[in-house]
Amino acid sequence: MAEMHATAADGSRVPLPRQAVQSLGARLRGELLLPDSAGYEEARRVWNGMIDRQPALVARCVETGDVLHAVEFARSHGLLVAVRGGGHGVAGHGTCDGGLVIDLSPMRDVAVDPAAATVRVGGGARLLDLDAATQAHAVAVPAGVVSDTGIAGLTLGGGLGWLRNKHGLTCDNLLSAEVVTAQGEVLTASGDSHPDLYWGLQGGGGNFGIVTEFTFRAHPVGPEVWFTAAFHDGRHMKEILRFFREYTATAPDEVSTLAACGRFPPGAEAFPEEVQGLPYVLLIGMAAAPPEEGERLMRPLQEFRRPLVDMSGPQRYVQAQQFFDEDYPQGLRYYWKSLNLRDLSDEAIDRIVEHALRQPSPLSTTDIWHIGGAVRRRDEAESAFAGRRAAFLLNCEANWEDPADDGANIAWARRFLADMQEYSDGSRYLNFPGLYEEGNDTMRTTFGERYRRLAALKATYDPTNLFRLNQNIPPAAEAERHGGSVTR
Ligand SMILES: Cc1cc2nc3c(=O)[nH]c(=O)nc-3n(C[C@H](O)[C@H](O)[C@H](O)COP(=O)(O)OP(=O)(O)OC[C@H]3O[C@@H](n4cnc5c(N)ncnc54)[C@H](O)[C@@H]3O)c2cc1C
Repeated sequence: MAEMHATAADGSRVPLPRQAVQSLGARLRGELLLPDSAGYEEARRVWNGMIDRQPALVARCVETGDVLHAVEFARSHGLLVAVRGGGHGVAGHGTCDGGLVIDLSPMRDVAVDPAAATVRVGGGARLLDLDAATQAHAVAVPAGVVSDTGIAGLTLGGGLGWLRNKHGLTCDNLLSAEVVTAQGEVLTASGDSHPDLYWGLQGGGGNFGIVTEFTFRAHPVGPEVWFTAAFHDGRHMKEILRFFREYTATAPDEVSTLAACGRFPPGAEAFPEEVQGLPYVLLIGMAAAPPEEGERLMRPLQEFRRPLVDMSGPQRYVQAQQFFDEDYPQGLRYYWKSLNLRDLSDEAIDRIVEHALRQPSPLSTTDIWHIGGAVRRRDEAESAFAGRRAAFLLNCEANWEDPADDGANIAWARRFLADMQEYSDGSRYLNFPGLYEEGNDTMRTTFGERYRRLAALKATYDPTNLFRLNQNIPPAAEAERHGGSVTR
């Protein structure tokens, strides 16, 4: 029987006996896909069209047992491993060249316990799965703003959405997680069980194990909410961003907003012909309140000047959660990179506007997320997430179609952020990491003093760095660990 080859964790090529591969396939309840399997072509791809990789194997897991078998196989053969939840990781870590993809995307079950106001969510669920199940009981878990995004990556990196200022980040609502570790154990991480692991899962990324199930706290929301989407005339960008700064300074926790600077795409049916090609500033957000109260709280965003296009109104929560969906199709080319801003001074606004207006692609936007309320109030020490002290998160979203434009679009975002460094402590939001090309430097800058604790945690739960294709924190060397506070 012919031997296969695969990529090892250290990048070398290693033999993979076919018999072992067949035996893994027989043990899985889900499918094991090889390059010649039907469905492989789709399974190797992720959302970002920039990423074009060919794994040796894709294990489509349908239950925790499948994840265990896949981890065991990867460890015993020393393979390079990619872990996939919703496949929307911007840097494309959900696939790899030559290694094993542990793909949880079939694990999309969501179970709501309305009496306890808790929700159990499979490790491969998307936001739309979560929203549909929770809204059947008029509750919601804070998530992101595009419904196809995976809950797993979103939660492990933080999770910014339309409920954040009232109810916190997605990770702030995590009550417990079932985790398959690199050593092949199944642990429950919560406030009472492996509390250090629980701390690390709240913003430390996919470093510490594979989460097969999340349990979240849910809050009464909807079914109708007030949703503001006011496209203002971008020829007055500076004035609009200054207004946005003033508005967010006093807005109540119920309101979570962002300002997106872009250009009305030529030929788009959703917009009148006379605005196509013009720059806009979209002031957009949701009020976690009854719709009438939400309208009152958010009215200034529509009224301080007349919007060119106004799509604001009461909406079903699930509909508002899908407002942006069509703008982010799978397979387009994306480079999203962020920087936490200390504040939004007039000088910072001037610089943002200068770069925003130079975006090479009409599909790109410059997003400024207001970080306030419950996100800022949570004690920084309680979770690994970095970025609670930021007033705003700046995200350069380069979105384009033609591979020939890769250079110009990536250069735009990089130059933009380099020029904004002086308004920041240099930390980034790890769910908007570009292609993670700065590697571990980003992690050290972002986590600051907490980096050591994360590296010690990594050494405890993944000492060989099996889970390395992520925003990676290599395990601390033995000597460094004495400073960490890891307990099991
Ligand atoms: C269209 C779009 C919209 C977005 N909107 C928002 C938003 O509104 N707010 C926001 O905060 N972020 C947003 N993001 C960023 C998003 O949070 C990250 O891209 C996130 O990583 C996506 O998670 P995923 O599970 O889909 O990705 P994947 O590519 O499947 O996973 C990303 C990484 O997470 C880890 N991982 C995935 N699943 C597991 C698991 N089960 N156990 C352990 N580790 C795992 C792995 O390290 C993996 O490499 C958006 C991204 C996209 C593409």
